[in-house]
Amino acid sequence: MEKIYEVYRDRDSSKVGLYNGILKDSGIHTVVRNWHGSNIVEVPIPEFFPNICVLSKEDYEKSVEILKDYENSDSSGLEAWTCSQCGEIIDGGFSECWSCQASMDEKPEN
Ligand SMILES: [Zn+2]
Repeated sequence: MEKIYEVYRDRDSSKVGLYNGILKDSGIHTVVRNWHGSNIVEVPIPEFFPNICVLSKEDYEKSVEILKDYENSDSSGLEAWTCSQCGEIIDGGFSECWSCQASMDEKPEN
């Protein structure tokens, strides 16, 4: 049987799904196990939690790094920014000014 490496396991399948998407976006081939089982398990038995696996040690190490980076940037990644064109304060998560549609990294003309 092929050796697999478990990267992440959580009772919360939405979090497992989110992390799986992040890894896939990074080009890592992942295998999610127990995905459907998570909906019917009432008792928190870790063996039945959905979990993300990869097929090589190399991918495992990459995945751990990616998820660590993600968790570290989670709270600070969505800081509000000030539009350089009109001075509005824009919520983090938007890359365009809602007032004048300038993009976040657009430089002032003068
Ligand atoms: Zn603006």
